[in-house]
Amino acid sequence: MSENASPAPLRVTVWNEFRHERKNPAVAAIYPNGIHECVAGVFRDANAAAGAGDAPEFAVRTATLDEPEHGLPPAVLDATDVLIWWGHEHHREVADEVVARVHARVLEGMGLVVLHSAHLSKIFKALMGTSCSLKWREANDKERLWVVNPAHAVAAGLPEYFELPAEEMYGEPFGIPEPDELVFVSWFTGGEVFRSGACWRRGGGRVFYFRPGHETYPTYHDANVRRVLLNAVRWARPAGVKLSARCPNTAPLEPLPVAA
Ligand code: ZN
Repeated sequence: MSENASPAPLRVTVWNEFRHERKNPAVAAIYPNGIHECVAGVFRDANAAAGAGDAPEFAVRTATLDEPEHGLPPAVLDATDVLIWWGHEHHREVADEVVARVHARVLEGMGLVVLHSAHLSKIFKALMGTSCSLKWREANDKERLWVVNPAHAVAAGLPEYFELPAEEMYGEPFGIPEPDELVFVSWFTGGEVFRSGACWRRGGGRVFYFRPGHETYPTYHDANVRRVLLNAVRWARPAGVKLSARCPNTAPLEPLPVAA
């Protein structure tokens, strides 16, 4: 045991719409406990892989659309360092009050990892301020993700490129503001390309968008995808400073000249 106190675990909340898995047997076969449980497993696996005497790196919880307040009451968000968001067909059912709460937490410093069809989620569109639109096709394209920024923390441990044998295609132009950092560019069998891993800073928070993850493919079981999720959460961890949105009137530090 180290004499130093163990670092507090990084608190990760995985949010999922959790509707496809309950109405489509093909999706349930891939994600029997929901996409959120599969993604949460990335962090549970990392804890399990650490040494027996090591403190867990992550504290993981999940939240879903149909829970009260979508599973994201203030107490949960206040106890979340990085929030992961998967949504698709029911973005409009997410209460504006909850979106505003998540938005405020990102500006304060909480990290946000936005997955796949959550490009049209209320929270991502609010943070980007743009359409977040794209082209799409469900036709079993192969996706090849090129690591265009191998020195980036989100690319740690990844090969030069990796492939998903079948995925939904997303194509440019992607209606996002210019990313602060671009980590992945995808190529698809049909010939399109897409900025599939991109980083922004919003206030004190870090935002990462990651494209793969259509619900009818086993994408979140893929080892490279799981590596990206692990890296992205580590990258998006708060800096340890909670930014305030207040605009306080403030006294001068030095005596001011008396006005004539
Ligand atoms: Zn999709």
